[in-house]
Amino acid sequence: MDKYPWWNKTQCELADKIEEFADKHLSRAAEAAYKKEFPYDLMDKVLKDKWVGTIIPEEYGGMGKEAGVTGCCIGMEGIARLGAIATSFATTCFGGAHQTAHFGNDEQKEKFLPKFAKGEIMGAVCITEPFIGSDAAGIETVAVKEGDEYILNGKKRFITNAGLADVYMVYAQTSNNPGDIKGYKHLTGFLVEKGTPGFSVEKINELIGWDGVRNGYLNLDDAPVPAANILAGEGMGWNIMISGLNFERTLGAIAGVSCIRECVRYATFSMDRRVQFNQPTKFYQANQLKVADMIGNWKMLRLLAYYIAYQIDTGGMAPLGPFLESTAAKIFITEGWRKAALDTIQIMGGDGLTRFYPIEGHLRDVKILEIGAGTNEVLRLLLYRQGVRIHADDFKAPWREMNDELQMPIPYMAVKPLPEGTEVNENTVLDVLAEYWRINPGLYISRDQLLIRLRADEESLDEALLLLEEQELAVNYRDKRGVLALSRATYKGLKKAKPNEYYQYFPEWVDRSEFF
Ligand SMILES: Cc1cc2nc3c(=O)[nH]c(=O)nc-3n(C[C@H](O)[C@H](O)[C@H](O)COP(=O)(O)OP(=O)(O)OC[C@H]3O[C@@H](n4cnc5c(N)ncnc54)[C@H](O)[C@@H]3O)c2cc1C
Repeated sequence: MDKYPWWNKTQCELADKIEEFADKHLSRAAEAAYKKEFPYDLMDKVLKDKWVGTIIPEEYGGMGKEAGVTGCCIGMEGIARLGAIATSFATTCFGGAHQTAHFGNDEQKEKFLPKFAKGEIMGAVCITEPFIGSDAAGIETVAVKEGDEYILNGKKRFITNAGLADVYMVYAQTSNNPGDIKGYKHLTGFLVEKGTPGFSVEKINELIGWDGVRNGYLNLDDAPVPAANILAGEGMGWNIMISGLNFERTLGAIAGVSCIRECVRYATFSMDRRVQFNQPTKFYQANQLKVADMIGNWKMLRLLAYYIAYQIDTGGMAPLGPFLESTAAKIFITEGWRKAALDTIQIMGGDGLTRFYPIEGHLRDVKILEIGAGTNEVLRLLLYRQGVRIHADDFKAPWREMNDELQMPIPYMAVKPLPEGTEVNENTVLDVLAEYWRINPGLYISRDQLLIRLRADEESLDEALLLLEEQELAVNYRDKRGVLALSRATYKGLKKAKPNEYYQYFPEWVDRSEFF
């Protein structure tokens, strides 16, 4: 495994250890996958080798900061080559172990973390329900307090490690107060233990991929859960969930990176050995270009994934922690992996389509990861919304002003105000709208820019904009709250503001006299 220069000695040793482990058990994992059987023997080794302990503090029997999330990702990169157990390992890490380590109180840590660290228990995370998928805040499973217990009723579905796990990180609604719902304070995170009365596995799914993985429906029927098993208090479920999802997406991303490397292995294996038209297919550039993309993606995306791990290890796991990065990693790594799997199949020709080679399985598995842990569509929406908000300063577009000599717009980082003493009235506002049209035809100017350009106060500006609107000289766009947000001149307004010549532009290389 390629090691990064910032990995410490422990992390480098973990990398060697897990590669050796994966090499050794590759055949057993493949055998189990063909039989769609869960390889308990391999899982047991992963647990007993304390890989979950990478994310658990030393005082609870884990490896602490020396390993950390980076160490866990290193483990995941190796284990991801071993099929079903990769999913079960990752799910244990982000389904109970992580949440207890970051949000648990001393008693909860004392009770669960040593068992996670020693590999005595497995975990699961239970967000999704039959009627609640992407809209995770709409969880319908209800928890009602009765004495020192909460009674849970509801159903969960698509739960990985269903039946295998000993501890289930269950999110349930503890309030239907509209204020709590609006502020995302209506959900609570419970550690529900296997054996809780009324808690049962309802169904195991037949999936297109993830051969051997246990994934299914769970039923909570008047299941009593001790109040002591609530993490971080009532109403904190959403924060815990987001933190868990950041981590889940990071581990999913690392798994994808590992699988891209497997694709390169099989693509080059085939290209080196398949001879067509009297030469190995590695000499065909069509094939080389595909592998080049795989290597490029593998390099870039692996770096992103380990950068996230580094961020978590050094900056903690605040709910919004490396949100943008882990969201981006999940999207682009799964898509990079899908492309790699498809291209490898193409490179291998008909062989790639057979179950004699593992790449067809990659295609089935990657499709699951494009949906699980948040669909890539929904994640893209989040990436857009949070990305433009968090990086508002980075993405701030320049103000543009006409350069008289060049007769071209020149960018300035800040809006340039008009000279002091410029009056704010319909005429001056219309002038700025006309000026804006000349430089950014087809675009509206923002109210913030108008305020600065005109050195205006909000009241005078709004008054002028409304007057212009009334006279059909300008059009104003109002935001959801009904506040004036964007404005532009109408054709009538442009005509009133400036003579035609003001708006005209002809490149130097044309003869103006040719035109009417
Ligand atoms: C194999 C597997 C394992 C899983 N493991 C777990 C687990 O262990 N624990 C757990 O809690 N969950 C698990 N999940 C659930 C997974 O997180 C959800 O499947 C996922 O969040 C999508 O929800 P959904 O399947 O209900 O799709 P839906 O939310 O019903 O979405 C259907 C389609 O509509 C699109 N869509 C939905 N809303 C929007 C929107 N606002 N804008 C644009 N498009 C939208 C989606 O992108 C998708 O294409 C697992 C799922 C799978 C398949």
